[in-house]
Amino acid sequence: MNNNRTIILPAEELPISMEVDVLVVGGGPTGIAAAMASSRNGANTLLVEQRGFLGGMGTVSLVPAFCPYTDHEKPVIRGIGLELLDRMKSNCSIEYQQLYNKQLDWVPIDAEVLKRIYDDAVLESGAKVLYHSFVGQLIMNEESSEIEGIVVLNKSGRSIIRCKYVIDATGDADLAAMAGVPFQKGGENGELQPGTMCYTMANVSYSRFQQYLRQSGDTPQIHQAVQKAQADGNLPDGRESVSGLAWIADYLVSVNFGHIFGVDGTQAEDLTRAAIEGRKLVERQVQFFRNYVPGFEYAHVVATGEQIGIRETRRIVGDYVLVQEDFMEMRTFEDDIARNSYFIDIHMARSDAKMHIHHLPPGKSHGVPYRCLLPIGINNMWVAGRAASSDRVVQGSLRVMPNCFAMGQAAGMAAAIAAETGAHTRQVDIRQLQRSLVMQGAWLGETYEGEVKKDGGLNRN
Ligand SMILES: Cc1cc2nc3c(=O)[nH]c(=O)nc-3n(C[C@H](O)[C@H](O)[C@H](O)COP(=O)(O)OP(=O)(O)OC[C@H]3O[C@@H](n4cnc5c(N)ncnc54)[C@H](O)[C@@H]3O)c2cc1C
Repeated sequence: MNNNRTIILPAEELPISMEVDVLVVGGGPTGIAAAMASSRNGANTLLVEQRGFLGGMGTVSLVPAFCPYTDHEKPVIRGIGLELLDRMKSNCSIEYQQLYNKQLDWVPIDAEVLKRIYDDAVLESGAKVLYHSFVGQLIMNEESSEIEGIVVLNKSGRSIIRCKYVIDATGDADLAAMAGVPFQKGGENGELQPGTMCYTMANVSYSRFQQYLRQSGDTPQIHQAVQKAQADGNLPDGRESVSGLAWIADYLVSVNFGHIFGVDGTQAEDLTRAAIEGRKLVERQVQFFRNYVPGFEYAHVVATGEQIGIRETRRIVGDYVLVQEDFMEMRTFEDDIARNSYFIDIHMARSDAKMHIHHLPPGKSHGVPYRCLLPIGINNMWVAGRAASSDRVVQGSLRVMPNCFAMGQAAGMAAAIAAETGAHTRQVDIRQLQRSLVMQGAWLGETYEGEVKKDGGLNRN
């Protein structure tokens, strides 16, 4: 016992349960694309996920729709992200396909279909998957600044998975934090975007709801219903509109509505309180829908998120920090590995504050440099997705699922290139990485596309 607050455990000998070249931790959109790209390009790859399925926020927390893949003129997110979107659509009901087959922006998520698609897609890529396994510790070689392996905890006990490279796709930069990488969390005063408990309701009627919207001009109608319920004391103050209703079928809708404030998604106690408060709020919201919104009179909740949806936790400090001016000036970088055109979408940290929203003009985007995936001080780790290196404003845009697919694909591709030669992350040939990404469907802007077409993509440096 040490000062009554900690206990020193005896040293423990653990079995090595697996050895791989590329270890991806976290099976959200980032980890899925990373594992697929790494494995498709020849690296022996394992994806470890704490849940029993893939998808991250889109399936764990029932976030109801994919943010836009386009800049309103053309798809910006392509490659693996677009491939998975198409696969989900073609496996949904005929009714769903009639509604959304041509759509690339705000496509509703059928979570159960998506879980199956992700299982198949990752396994078909050749990557191995280990579910129900939490990564809580890593083994670091201080001399080489490399991660040598991680400790997983699951029903088989504790064991070590050794690896040559790690991709941290936990969304919270869990591994980077364990490795001592500097990070920032939230705003200057530690404020964080709120969480939301998303859910799916059955026994609703899309056609009746549409009829109601038509009566007085689209969203304002539901906006008025929310305000009336707030005035009647039947909904809490704060968010004045239902931000996301994603219709999966005429009788089935997923909902992103309302906020739970003051939740740090890296703290188990906060996640616990948010889960309890979130489900309570959902109950109130369902009563609101039933009593105030035509088409929802008999609404029935079939599922709430297994975990409260988390928009923001850690952002690593990488070799480059993508900042607001880069976004506003739509900068392009020599080492771009993706483009982003999604708007800045920062939800307020308090119920009396305002959302921060800023759109780029149609057809415009900015670059995401490779250096944003490289955590300071580590030579064999990439951090991609929600926790990539950016300031808070840019994170409010970069964090969405299509972007996470793009960053994940780039990290996975870089890992495969590194594994082939034994290079560390900063020795990866950027031109080779960019060419390979474009050859495999990613879009890095007109400049790179033109260059790759010119040399037929054969010049791999
Ligand atoms: C309420 C809400 C609404 C949103 N709306 C939209 C929207 O409409 N459209 C959109 O595109 N995006 C939306 N987003 C953003 C988007 O869903 C997330 O930012 C995105 O999913 C992040 O992807 P990721 O792969 O980085 O992390 P996640 O999706 O969070 O995935 C991380 C995965 O890692 C696993 N994991 C974490 N830590 C460990 C560990 N230590 N060991 C093992 N496994 C671990 C988790 O279980 C999870 O599966 C929304 C987010 C929220 C919260």
